[in-house]
Amino acid sequence: MVMRTQVLVVGGGPAGATAARRLAASGKEVMLVERDLSFRKPCGGGIASSALDELDIPRDVPHRVVRTIRFVSPSGRVLDIPLRGGEILVVDRRAFDSLLRRLAAEAGAEVVEGEFTGLQSKRRGLKSRVLIDGEAVTVESDYLIASDGVNSRVRRAAGLDPSDYVFTLSAPVGGLETDACEFWFGSEHAPSSYSWVFPRVDGDSAGGCSVGTGMSYGRDARACFGRFLDRLGISAEGVTARGYKVPSWKHGPYTAGRVLFAGDAAAQVMPFTYEGIYYAMKSGEFAAEAVTGGRLSLYGKLWRRRFLSRFRLMRTLEGVFLRNDAGAEKLFDIFCRPEVQEASMRLWLRKEAGRGSLLSYINLFRKFLH
Ligand SMILES: Cc1cc2nc3c(=O)[nH]c(=O)nc-3n(C[C@H](O)[C@H](O)[C@H](O)COP(=O)(O)OP(=O)(O)OC[C@H]3O[C@@H](n4cnc5c(N)ncnc54)[C@H](O)[C@@H]3O)c2cc1C
Repeated sequence: MVMRTQVLVVGGGPAGATAARRLAASGKEVMLVERDLSFRKPCGGGIASSALDELDIPRDVPHRVVRTIRFVSPSGRVLDIPLRGGEILVVDRRAFDSLLRRLAAEAGAEVVEGEFTGLQSKRRGLKSRVLIDGEAVTVESDYLIASDGVNSRVRRAAGLDPSDYVFTLSAPVGGLETDACEFWFGSEHAPSSYSWVFPRVDGDSAGGCSVGTGMSYGRDARACFGRFLDRLGISAEGVTARGYKVPSWKHGPYTAGRVLFAGDAAAQVMPFTYEGIYYAMKSGEFAAEAVTGGRLSLYGKLWRRRFLSRFRLMRTLEGVFLRNDAGAEKLFDIFCRPEVQEASMRLWLRKEAGRGSLLSYINLFRKFLH
């Protein structure tokens, strides 16, 4: 069977659903294929409330509101940073992704459960192979937006290397409660990375936490995760952890011919923090804008203008402070300063992108590094 659409979007997570919504709203014929419409991405689910406002996303999904960020240093010092002028929403990813796809469908996108399996033709008039209800379908399209996540099959089909990644293990934990998004540093359990405890929402029930740890590729993931549970004083019995990759950001490429890569498929996760939901949605939006305007180079331009300096800065900070425990202790000291807290919240929470705020942020760190 052969189907035809102007734009095929592969993957219905934050990047794909946002791209499909924007494309449909601008009058494009768009088909979004998602492999599993009830998929729950392993994810802390933390999103700045300002991101939802910016992207016009209603809050009608189960969520918990968080107003404190907690840092725990390798030596066990604890710092609570109140979130002023914004908050973090912790969402259930299954419900959130469904909401984003519903918004895309309401804008006019055709949302289909189906799996992209390969590219038949990369030339103008792309031909993709998609499995729908067990049937192999050829989908012809003018453009393809690849938003199929960190293990992107489209990326491989287009001849690009897979992205580098940080490996994570995370699990829901019932007997633990927190009202903060907690970031725990320590090379014992999170070498060159961090571990976290977030409040948890599962369907309609809010309770317990999600606990996870990240580590550079090659380390013993299960042992690290076990050591983090030990540090929290939690028994590993009955805790079932899922492994998942977080792509390690590299600047581009974002397009290959008429294929545009968005979100995790383009490794657009903020270094250091692993914040990816907002950047996935924004990249979906930029990719859609480029397709609508018929000028694919616009995508990279929009992304660079808005995010490149910020990503570079976070990559530098990651290299300096997450290298070892001494670096993480220094980071903790720096974050004790109210002016650093305020500047960080401006950048992270309110997404202020002005060059001025970024420069003053860089200067703050420069001052403390010497
Ligand atoms: C443990 C963990 C915790 C995280 N916590 C946070 C957090 O708290 N806040 C935050 O901002 N970010 C967090 N992130 C990062 C965030 O989850 C991702 O950056 C974000 O989900 C990327 O969105 P995406 O749409 O690009 O990809 P994904 O969300 O991965 O969506 C890809 C979609 O494509 C579908 N798909 C895959 N292959 C195919 C195929 N062949 N055909 C059709 N469909 C396909 C998948 O089913 C999936 O629905 C976390 C990541 C991990 C691993």
